[in-house]
Amino acid sequence: MKRALVTGINGQDGSYLAELLLSKGYEVHGVIRRSSIENSTKMSNLKDSIARIKLYTCSLDNHLAVYKLIAAVQPDECYHLAASSFVNYSFEDEVSIIATNFTITHYILSSIKELCPQCKVYFAGSSEMFGNADRVPQNEDTKFNPRSIYGIAKLSSYHVVKNYREHHGLYACTGFTYNHESPRRSHAFVTRKITSGVAQIAIGLTHKIELGNLDAIRDWGYAPEYVEAMWLMLNNPHGPHDYVIATGIPHSVKDVLTFAFAIVGLDYQNYIDTQNNKFFRPSEQVPLIGDPSNIYQDLGWHNIVKLEHIIEEMVNNDLNLLKSI
Ligand code: GDP
Repeated sequence: MKRALVTGINGQDGSYLAELLLSKGYEVHGVIRRSSIENSTKMSNLKDSIARIKLYTCSLDNHLAVYKLIAAVQPDECYHLAASSFVNYSFEDEVSIIATNFTITHYILSSIKELCPQCKVYFAGSSEMFGNADRVPQNEDTKFNPRSIYGIAKLSSYHVVKNYREHHGLYACTGFTYNHESPRRSHAFVTRKITSGVAQIAIGLTHKIELGNLDAIRDWGYAPEYVEAMWLMLNNPHGPHDYVIATGIPHSVKDVLTFAFAIVGLDYQNYIDTQNNKFFRPSEQVPLIGDPSNIYQDLGWHNIVKLEHIIEEMVNNDLNLLKSI
């Protein structure tokens, strides 16, 4: 039986990945923050899998704690998903963003190198590493140009992963994931903000959603499919390679609004407050759209569920949550 260690296991991706790995017969070990264990909202993504997972509350920003964790678990595969995933454009709190998104990656790689060098490592990179990209769509050869401290920290992790692969012989790789959504998406992201807003409007709890740039373009995929890509990358017959994980399909925030309001039979134009500067991002000239050709060619992975259906699932989930209160 293969043993997997997943950091950030109670997040959107971690929880779907845990379910996927359990369905494949893995022994699943997961790391969460100590503060999460007593917070039922933060554990809700694991409600269907928690009984079958071995959970650890470990401070990943403590090198010795990471070392001891890896020594105890001795994983065959490690998926490093823990991150401060919300892109902070204000450059506040930079030290903790770098610690979470860079230093921990280094602790994990160095511990694996010492303790179980056969363990394969997946690092959760991000389209934010391309930032203000010089082309659309972006692929694995596109020049990196991060525009946020989050992107800079992720890019630094990518380099350390590459270094451990090329110079220490580790099977370690980075997936450049573009936005990926699901009913487990946090409310900080625009899709969930919209779907929960629509659910509240539909049952009369509010009558407006306040948003930023409605013309912003993103490449939005379906989270359960993205965790399959992560697993495929650690089971790649071509060896460890970095891949863009994306749909390649551009959609605007207006598209998300249209899909979401259609589920409840309303026109979004009647429910949006004038665009609020508070929610605008400073630099978004070039849309972040990924080119998933390489992962399709090497691993046969491509997205299936369309944004319209992802949003439908999210709205229905938010309606059910409100009805169950
Ligand atoms: P991320 O920025 O790609 O990590 O994902 P988000 O879901 O936070 O934002 C996606 C896009 O939606 C960005 O281009 C934002 O500028 C745009 N957007 C427009 N209004 C909002 C809003 O009210 N909140 C957020 N989070 N994003 C918004």
